Amino acid sequence: MAKIIDGKAISAQIRAEIKEQVGTFCAEHGRAPFLSVVIVGDDPASQVYVRNKERACNEVGIGSDVLRLPSDTDEETLLSLIDRLNRDPGVNGILVQLPLPSGIDEKKVICAIDPSKDVDAFGYENVGRILTGDYDFLPCTPAGVMELLKRSGISAAGKDCVVIGRSNIVGKPMAALLMHENGTVTVCHSKTADLPAHTRRADILVSAIGKAGFVTADMIKEGAVIIDVGINRTPEGKLTGDVDYEGCFEKASAITPVPGGVGPMTITMLLKNTLKAAEKQI
Ligand code: NAD
Repeated sequence: MAKIIDGKAISAQIRAEIKEQVGTFCAEHGRAPFLSVVIVGDDPASQVYVRNKERACNEVGIGSDVLRLPSDTDEETLLSLIDRLNRDPGVNGILVQLPLPSGIDEKKVICAIDPSKDVDAFGYENVGRILTGDYDFLPCTPAGVMELLKRSGISAAGKDCVVIGRSNIVGKPMAALLMHENGTVTVCHSKTADLPAHTRRADILVSAIGKAGFVTADMIKEGAVIIDVGINRTPEGKLTGDVDYEGCFEKASAITPVPGGVGPMTITMLLKNTLKAAEKQI
């Protein structure tokens, strides 16, 4: 029977620590760290994410504002807003909520953010720093996974780690972070031949695909640690991960639920990055 890795509880513990550190920052510098979130258009899921980020900042004492731009905003307007935020000493972290409307070059916009304020760590400079291990910020979701492992007493060192998914925001940086922790990492994706042959070797399996119930008990090793990054909606509207949780529960040694696993950690890591950005800038 698996130990449940409780992302909600671990996240609450880290947020309490961040709140205390923010208090110290405010006492020393007479102001709070500050995050500016930019959202373009009215994608309902993005609106929810942005509201949650704002609420989380409030909760730990980080100042924040949300700059809402209409969906017909052009690239030049967005780039000039980012330029203004880059030059504003009162803004420590800048986050542009993705996806952006078609017609705007996401890479160009993300790379326009000053790397020292790029708290999502998606810009090329931060991506390069992450790969070389010389980083200030880690991307929030993979960093959240590493923190969950660490605070659950699970080390990746010497373990076979398998990541399913190779996206720039989850799979690739996840593989890099597991490597930094001395895991032996295999990255699987939609073109992997015989995926179960890889997943069955995994001591630590991270799934970041976006397909409900994709990872079944016959695909995992007895005693494996299962980290489910996936967020999917069932036809009944229920939130679920990539992993058949019930099926894998008996066989795994530890498992993250969805909801309440990796999800709460992502915003927590954003708070941590914003505080770190403020400390570095001062
Ligand atoms: P993405 O669509 O960019 O990438 C999905 C990856 O899965 C691709 O690399 C693809 O090769 C791989 N894949 C797809 N089908 C596959 C298959 N049949 N076999 C093997 N690999 C396959 O998605 P993403 O942005 O990396 O997100 C992945 C999932 O994680 C989504 O469900 C997303 O909602 C979720 N997510 C959760 C959080 C969180 O905070 N918990 C954060 C980011 C993303």
